Amino acid sequence: MRVVVTGGAGFLGSHLCDRLVESGVEVICVDNFFTGTRRNVAHLMGHLNFELIRHDITFPLYLEADRIFNLACPASPVQYQFDPVQTTKTSVHGSINMLGLAKRVKARILQASTSEVYGDPEQHPQTESYWGRVNPIGIRSCYDEGKRCAETLFFDYHRQHGLGIKVVRIFNTYGPRMHLDDGRVVSNFIVQALRGQDLTIYGDGNQTRSFCYVEDTVEAILRMMDTESGFLGPVNIGNPDEFTILELAQAILRITGSKSKIVFAPLPQDDPRQRQPDIALAERKLDWSPKVGLEEGLGKTISYFRTLLA
Ligand code: NAD
Ligand code: UDP
Ligand code: UDP
Repeated sequence: MRVVVTGGAGFLGSHLCDRLVESGVEVICVDNFFTGTRRNVAHLMGHLNFELIRHDITFPLYLEADRIFNLACPASPVQYQFDPVQTTKTSVHGSINMLGLAKRVKARILQASTSEVYGDPEQHPQTESYWGRVNPIGIRSCYDEGKRCAETLFFDYHRQHGLGIKVVRIFNTYGPRMHLDDGRVVSNFIVQALRGQDLTIYGDGNQTRSFCYVEDTVEAILRMMDTESGFLGPVNIGNPDEFTILELAQAILRITGSKSKIVFAPLPQDDPRQRQPDIALAERKLDWSPKVGLEEGLGKTISYFRTLLA
């Protein structure tokens, strides 16, 4: 079995590569190192079952594979807004290339979609049947609409070419190997707390997110790939425990024992007010639910950043 992981040197992708190499399959990690780094997969480098290719998936890629996990795409608002046209290209041209590859070699292909397809939702919690409320012309649109178009492409390659597809909608995931300054809230707050800097809450801190620990998310992605061919998704993957951003900041201050203060900054445009996955479908189809609570997951993530900053 040969498996391709695009975005494999990123946060989620590197944990996925770990699990796949552990399971004994051959892994080809494809990454252009925009937000990922070789450091995330350095420990796999000498492994006979692991191969790393520097490649931008917006360009064609020819190789042989049985399965493809398509994770390539910057995920943090700061990073995906840095070069928004490239972000859309990665989701759209990149997906077309990976789907073309899957079609040629008859591989099963999984798309890492996102809760962002629901935009700033009017339905709470979000079920897979909700179509979302997304601004098509805002600063988050390159990511949200890119991911929505990628879902369309996956389902059209399935309908038009009979391709074996899987789509997972991942909600906010955190853990070790998040980029030190990638701008997402968990890494930002932890790094600020450990450095004794102010914790920057955008808006009043009453907006909510539901945070899932990386091990739980990766387990669900692996289970989704193995489901029977008739089940395509989309399926929500996330931890339904919902917190306000202020609660998150307070938890991080408590666990780190930091003396940092909380400060408030303007809320970015189109920042969703609330987000919580309905995971009934994942529970039923993947026999999966998250195991790691916020307290435990933050503890592990804080340990990682402590070592990194030391
Ligand atoms: P990340 O930024 O750490 O990883 C993305 C990886 O893709 C990086 O290694 C980056 O270098 C690579 N990449 C970006 N553009 C590329 C291109 N054109 N060609 C090849 N490689 C490219 O982010 P992550 O959190 O690991 O996210 C992985 C995937 O999961 C993304 O598709 C993201 O949209 C999705 N996702 C993540 C979350 C989350 O909370 N972490 C939530 C929803 C969806
Ligand atoms: N492609 C690729 N690797 C392959 C096969 C295809 O990167 O092994 C790319 C190729 O560049 C093509 C895209 O995937 O533009 C879509 O392929 P498909 O066969 O669906 O469409 P077509 O080749 O007709 O454009
Ligand atoms: N956020 C914050 N301070 C930060 C970074 C983010 O208050 O330093 C807020 C952000 O405005 C959003 C939430 O935290 O409301 C989650 O942001 P993140 O970028 O992690 O993910 P997303 O908005 O894509 O869910």
